[in-house]
Amino acid sequence: MPKWEDNIRKVVPYTPGEQPKKEKMIKLNTNENPYPPAPGVARALAEFDTEKLRMYPDPAVSDLVGAIADFYGVAEEEVFVGVGSDDVLAMIFMTFFNSEKPILFPDITYSFYDVWADMLRIPYETIPLDENFRICAGGYKRENGGVIFPNPNAPTGELLPLETVEEIIAANRDVIVVVDEAYIDFGGESALPLIRKYDNLLVVQTFSKSRSMAGSRIGYAFGNRTLIKYLNDVKYSFNSYTMDRITIALGVEAVKDRTYFEETVDKIIVTREWTKKELAKLGFRFGDSKSNFLFVTHPTLDVVKLFEDLKRADIYVRHFNKPERIVPYLRISIGTDDEMRELIAYLKKYMDL
Ligand code: PMP
Repeated sequence: MPKWEDNIRKVVPYTPGEQPKKEKMIKLNTNENPYPPAPGVARALAEFDTEKLRMYPDPAVSDLVGAIADFYGVAEEEVFVGVGSDDVLAMIFMTFFNSEKPILFPDITYSFYDVWADMLRIPYETIPLDENFRICAGGYKRENGGVIFPNPNAPTGELLPLETVEEIIAANRDVIVVVDEAYIDFGGESALPLIRKYDNLLVVQTFSKSRSMAGSRIGYAFGNRTLIKYLNDVKYSFNSYTMDRITIALGVEAVKDRTYFEETVDKIIVTREWTKKELAKLGFRFGDSKSNFLFVTHPTLDVVKLFEDLKRADIYVRHFNKPERIVPYLRISIGTDDEMRELIAYLKKYMDL
């Protein structure tokens, strides 16, 4: 082995869901929104003046920060913007999780958390979900270097009531608590109002799901001004121009259109509830997901085989090989009504019904 191997930061990278390059498929594997972005986004792209690409973008992303602050009724100084919430979360790990004590997150959760922790040499402990895949607040009441959990959790879709979220924040006033709200718009209550009450809280959201912009990469965090300043200091020390001019222009249009946002989210919720009823009729079991995906198992079907068979039929869903407890589950994103009808029709045939 060459000597230089000793100096390499060796990491086991996160495995994102497949992005097959196929024209015709039903893609229910990465929790994307099945509807296009708000109409203003297409307009802004068509009107974008490419001459402007000559110049660097605004490192403070102030147009987009301002639009997000307006939409949510907070101050611009309470908003941090990044290139997808993955970027925002990575910056948060770098900025706030520098304790020798372990950070805490659920044993079944977004599988990027342990990757960032390992990459940045942050110690961590995982707190088991209960037998119904719910986060237990009690597990987060111990010495730690920080706390992070998604609400609703991924890949389970289980929502914690705001009182329980607050209980976890209140029990951890000496560290930063991060609530990853990638899926909050599909039926949850955001912890955003708590940023004024708790100076140790960061709430992270994304344009990738409820605003149909996964391809543009926009994420943001809310927190008190001091936390946002610390985050920006680290961001500017790493790479100041992370978000390009086109994304900034399109993001502003996406966030301005409240009506389109609410309509799209409502449609997905209706489709989700219909899909729950149909899957239940086929014997599938799942929790009461409040996200844009369902986490399902079946008492008699081999779901790993089903996963492969679905893929052969050009229906992509997600299967996780670890931890052990979730191997018999599939995560199915909510698509359009037609896509979900096709999925159900396939399953009925598959099960000979
Ligand atoms: N948090 C959770 C819980 C997620 O499931 C995802 C989506 N993979 C993200 C954050 C990151 O989303 P994005 O970077 O697209 O904003």
